Amino acid sequence: MLLFFGTRSTELDTRIIRKNFSCPYCNTENSYRVTTYGTYLHVLFIPIITLGKKYIIECEHCKKTYHKNELPDSLDIAIKNSYERIPPKKGLWQSFGCLSIVSLFLFSFLLSLFIWIFAVVADFFNSDSSNNNESVKKDEITTVVNLSKPKPTWNDKLKEKMYVADFFPDIEKDPIAYGIYNCLESHLSHSEKGDISYKTTVNDNKILILVGPLNMKKLNERQKDSLYSKIDRCIDNILKFKSYERYIGVFKGSTLFMQKTPKGIVKDSTAYKSELLKAFFVSNTPD
Ligand SMILES: [Zn+2]
Repeated sequence: MLLFFGTRSTELDTRIIRKNFSCPYCNTENSYRVTTYGTYLHVLFIPIITLGKKYIIECEHCKKTYHKNELPDSLDIAIKNSYERIPPKKGLWQSFGCLSIVSLFLFSFLLSLFIWIFAVVADFFNSDSSNNNESVKKDEITTVVNLSKPKPTWNDKLKEKMYVADFFPDIEKDPIAYGIYNCLESHLSHSEKGDISYKTTVNDNKILILVGPLNMKKLNERQKDSLYSKIDRCIDNILKFKSYERYIGVFKGSTLFMQKTPKGIVKDSTAYKSELLKAFFVSNTPD
C-alpha cells in the first residue's frame, strides 16, 4: 500500500546559522547547517497536499544531527529570525493534487458559467431572428395565396357584370339600365315583366348593355327577335341624345350572345374569344 500512497519529505531549503555555543557532541564552537524539509501526502508519487515543514540541524564540524529541542533556544530563535529575513521555499508543488482539483473545479464552474451566458445570449438572438422568420413565412404564405388566386381576366370581369345584373336597376347606380327597365315595362307582356336583369358599362364613348331574360328557353326564335327589337327600340329611346357606340348582349347565366355592335347586328357567341368587349374591362373600368 505504501507504493500507492503515503508521505514523503523533500528538502526545501538549506542555510548556515552561526551561533557561539559548542556542539554537545564534539564540543566545538561551530556553525550549524539547517535544512528545511517539506512533508506531503502522495498518491502514486503524485504530491497531493503539503502536511507541514520541519528542519534538521547538523553540526558543521562533526556532522551530528540534532532536533531543535536538543539545542539551546537561542539557536531556534536565530533560525526563526533567519527565516523571517529570507523565507524558505514554500514548496507549492507539494500541493499539486489539491491545487489541480481546486483548479479543475474552478475551471468547470467558469466553463459552465460561460456556456450558460452564451446559451442565454444565443437564445435571445435566436428568438429575435425566429420572429423575423415567422414574419418572412407570413409574407411567403401571403405571396403563395396571392399567386394561387390569379388576377381576374377581362372575361372574368365580364361574367361578374352579368352576375351582378339587377332585375330592378337602381336609378343612382345604373341610370341607363333603370331607363331600359322602365321602357320595357310598357312594351313587354305581363308574363315577361320582372324576368329580365340589366347591367350597363360605359367606357369613353362606348356602352355595353347586358340584358338577361330568364325565360329565353321558353321563347321561340320569332319571340326572341321581337324581344331584341323591343330592347333596341328602348335603348334608342334612352340614348337618343348620346352618341355612344352600342354593344348589346343578351345573356343567360354566363353565356353571352352579342346582338348588336357598332358594326351592326352580329348574333354571335364569340364575345369571350374575340377582343370585342375587352376595352370595357382592361383599363379604367367603371363599376
Ligand atoms: Zn559537532
